[in-house]
Amino acid sequence: MKFYSTKDRSYKVSFKDAIFNSLPPDNGLYYPETIPHLDSNFFEGLSSKSKEEIGFEVAWNFIENEIPERDLRRIVEETISFDFPLVQVVDHIYSLELFHGPTWAFKDLGARFLSRCMRHFIQQEDRKVNILVATSGDTGGAVAAGFHGIEGVDVTILYPKNKVSDLQQKQLTTWGANINALEVDGTFDDCQRLVKAAFLDQELNSKLSLSSANSINIARLIPQMFYYFFAFQQLGNWEEVVVSVPSGNYGNLSAGLFAKKMGLPIKRFIAASNSNDIVPSYLISGQYEPKPSIETYANAMDVGAPSNFVRMLEFFDGEVENMRALISGFSLSDPKILDTMNECHQSTRYLLDPHGAIGYQALKAELNKNETGIFLETAHPVKFMDVVKKVVKHPPGFESKIAEMDVRESTYTPISKSFDNFKSYLLNR
Ligand SMILES: *Cc1c(COP(=O)(O)O)cnc(C)c1O
Repeated sequence: MKFYSTKDRSYKVSFKDAIFNSLPPDNGLYYPETIPHLDSNFFEGLSSKSKEEIGFEVAWNFIENEIPERDLRRIVEETISFDFPLVQVVDHIYSLELFHGPTWAFKDLGARFLSRCMRHFIQQEDRKVNILVATSGDTGGAVAAGFHGIEGVDVTILYPKNKVSDLQQKQLTTWGANINALEVDGTFDDCQRLVKAAFLDQELNSKLSLSSANSINIARLIPQMFYYFFAFQQLGNWEEVVVSVPSGNYGNLSAGLFAKKMGLPIKRFIAASNSNDIVPSYLISGQYEPKPSIETYANAMDVGAPSNFVRMLEFFDGEVENMRALISGFSLSDPKILDTMNECHQSTRYLLDPHGAIGYQALKAELNKNETGIFLETAHPVKFMDVVKKVVKHPPGFESKIAEMDVRESTYTPISKSFDNFKSYLLNR
């Protein structure tokens, strides 16, 4: 399978080039030439398949012979070596818990898959790679964990100063070895801009082999399809299923769209956002208007210019009408996020994290009578202690998780948001 640029369908590269380049030179995004439909045998046998088998079959359809079957099976196994439980919260509403990996958020999946695919190609060619990644909190930790100790890869993580939780900061800055953390005096959008600028800078590209691990990298989207299949497998009932996706850069929702096109009978999606409601607004007005990001309790979704939006447009042939037929928008303010966490905890004892709370509330508000809702619970609430403490003073089991991180020592380099500083840091390191 080839991957083309959303800006030029005739520009096509292999999976390997798509993951190492991250972005096509025209600054579009790589997009699969086709999204294969899995055959009816696959779906009929789904209930008895292992999750490794499901993951392999989904990935194989995109990667085919670029990674030999045996190696791809091992990559998938390593990527998903934890649980993805579907937990009923109230009648007709289920939480798909994606936080049982090493850094307690769904981004572990994409990071583990990408790092292992890169390791596979690096071992064959003896090449060196510099990964740049901008993070609003969770991506960086997952990428650090996914790439720590992977030979031939150097990772630089940019995170916005004072805008990630203490625990997230620990998960970004306590690795050492091939993992470097940069604390940027700016917002997540500044971090993302610096990374994008680096990829377009000729001098940097000629001297360093740069690559990205943000959700713009197509290798992140592939494993994020797996868990939509895992959810249906656990649900059993496949009728009228609505999936609510707490969204920031829209990687998860893009992966969900791909999974639907592969044949999973998802009836519709809800794009559940915090106050950064760029996509919900687009669905109403038909105008895409990126804005500076606003800080919210759901900080991993504080994105004012969602990077995967162009992939969604590509999926719907650029037609807002097509998108409206499958996705509705929903947005929740900070006070309502707290209300939701409170209400849910009091009535069910289920503790939501601020991101999952938006997904859950979107279903409470928008689910029709005959429908079943699944929301992605994208992170463990312990990652957002400051917010969670407003709801429950001493959530059980959290102390030990925090203690585990507390003992680790942080090292990071502070930098300004100027591109020149960032560039000289990279060149002189
Ligand atoms: C990254 C992240 C999101 C947003 O996911 P996208 O795929 O970028 O839309 C939501 N919740 C949490 C906890 C995250 O870390």
